Amino acid sequence: VNIPKDPQARIGIFGGTFNPFHVGHMQALQTVKTRGSLSWISIVPTNQNPLKPETEGPTSEQRMEIIKIAIQGQEGFGIDQQELERGGQSFTIDTVSKYAETVSSDRLFLIVGSDQFENFDKWKSFEKILTLANLIVVSRPPASQPNELSDFPEGLRPLVSEIGGQVVALKSGRFIEFVRLRDNDVSASDIRKRIRSGRAVERFLTMEVESYIRQNNIYASLGPKIGDLEKFTEFCGQVLFDKKGITVRGFDLRETDSASEFTLIASGTSTRHTAALAENVMKEVKGEYNVFPQSIEGMAEGRWVLLDYGSLIVHVFYDFVRQEYRLENLWSKGKDLGLVDPNPGPVGHAASGAAGARSTGMSANISTAPSGLRPMAGGADSGSVGGDRSTASRSGSAAQSTSAGATGMKTPNVPNMTNPFDKK
Ligand code: ATP
Repeated sequence: VNIPKDPQARIGIFGGTFNPFHVGHMQALQTVKTRGSLSWISIVPTNQNPLKPETEGPTSEQRMEIIKIAIQGQEGFGIDQQELERGGQSFTIDTVSKYAETVSSDRLFLIVGSDQFENFDKWKSFEKILTLANLIVVSRPPASQPNELSDFPEGLRPLVSEIGGQVVALKSGRFIEFVRLRDNDVSASDIRKRIRSGRAVERFLTMEVESYIRQNNIYASLGPKIGDLEKFTEFCGQVLFDKKGITVRGFDLRETDSASEFTLIASGTSTRHTAALAENVMKEVKGEYNVFPQSIEGMAEGRWVLLDYGSLIVHVFYDFVRQEYRLENLWSKGKDLGLVDPNPGPVGHAASGAAGARSTGMSANISTAPSGLRPMAGGADSGSVGGDRSTASRSGSAAQSTSAGATGMKTPNVPNMTNPFDKK
C-alpha cells in the first residue's frame, strides 16, 4: 500500500469481509477520518477463512473491485491486499504488525464496528494489538458504548487504565476511542439477501457498485445451477439419510409466504454427527451440482447448522436442540414431502415421518442451544413461515481476523423468535 511517508501521518486500518463493501462502511470511514484527522485509511479485505467452509459469492478479485469502485475519487483511502496475498486464515495481529514496522503506535488506528468490539477479547493476540495501535470503535446499532468497566469485554478490563467519556486510556499507553455515527443500520448479509430476492438496495450501495454487482451476477440465485428444486431437496435428503440423519423431513413451502421455496430438517446424535451431516450435504452437493451454500451458520458449534442454498434451506440440528425449537411447526402450512429412507438401517435411525419421532422427552438444557437463540416458549405456531429464512447474528465473533465474520462463529437465528442478541 502507498501509505503516506509523512512521519506525522495518522494511519487507519479497516479490515472486513466486505461481501460486499457498502455505504455503512464508507460512512463510518469518512466520519472517522475527519474526526480522527487521519491522513490515510487502508481497507484490508480478509482472505477466505480456512476454518469456515467456502460459500458461493464473489471472488476475492470481485470483492476488491467493489471496494475500488466504492472508493473511487475519495482522497486518502486505499486497498491493502496483504491478507489476500498471505492466504490462509487472516489474523489482525499480523496485519497490524506489518504496519507497526513503519508507523509508530501513537499514529496507528485500528477501526472496528461495535459488534466486533464486543468480541475483541477473542481475537488472536488482542493485547499485543492494543500495544501496537489505538482502537477506534464505530457505533453500530443496537450495540451501545460501554460506560463503565463492567460493560467492557472481560478480557479487556485488566488493560484499561482510565475511562474518560468517549476515550478510554489503556495501560499500554494506547487508547480506545468510541465514535458515534449517525445510525446506519446496513449489513452486508442483508444486502446479499435483498439482491437475491430482487429487493431494492440503492440505499446501501452506490449506483456504480450496484451495477457492477448486477452485471457480474454476484449474489444471483443458484436456481439455474440447481435446476429442479424438488429433486435437489430430495438429493440432499438422501445424503442425510445415508449418513444416518434422524427424522429427515422435507417441506415444499412454495404455497406459503416463506422466503425459501423448500426446506429440509434433520438431526444428529451429537454435535459432531450434526456437523458431519451438514458437511456431507455440502460435499455431495458440490460434487453433483458444483455449488456451495450461499451461507453456512453454526458449523463450529454443531448444535444447529444451517445451509442456505437460496431456494432450499437445510437445517441440521443436534437432536436435543431440535426438540426445543420445533421448527416443523413453522412449516405446517407447507407440503410435507414425505421423504422416506430407501435403506433403513436395523436400529431405526431413519425417518419415521412424525416430527420429533426421536423426541427423547429429555428436556434440553438451554445451554445446549445455539448462542444467540432462545428456545421457543410454548406454541411455535406464533412464528410465521417466513421465519424459515435465517439471518446471521452479528454477535457471532470475528474472533481472530481483521475482518468481521471470519471465524464462522455465526449462529442461526430465526427472526420471528425473540432473540435478545439479534442486532439486525
Ligand atoms: P455482516 O452482514 O456479515 O455482518 P458486515 O456488514 O458487518 O457483514 P463486514 O465486512 O464483515 O461487513 O464488516 C467490516 C467492518 O465494518 C466490521 O468492523 C464491522 O463492524 C463494520 N461495519 C459493518 N457495517 C457497519 C455499519 N453499518 N456501521 C458501522 N460499522 C459497520
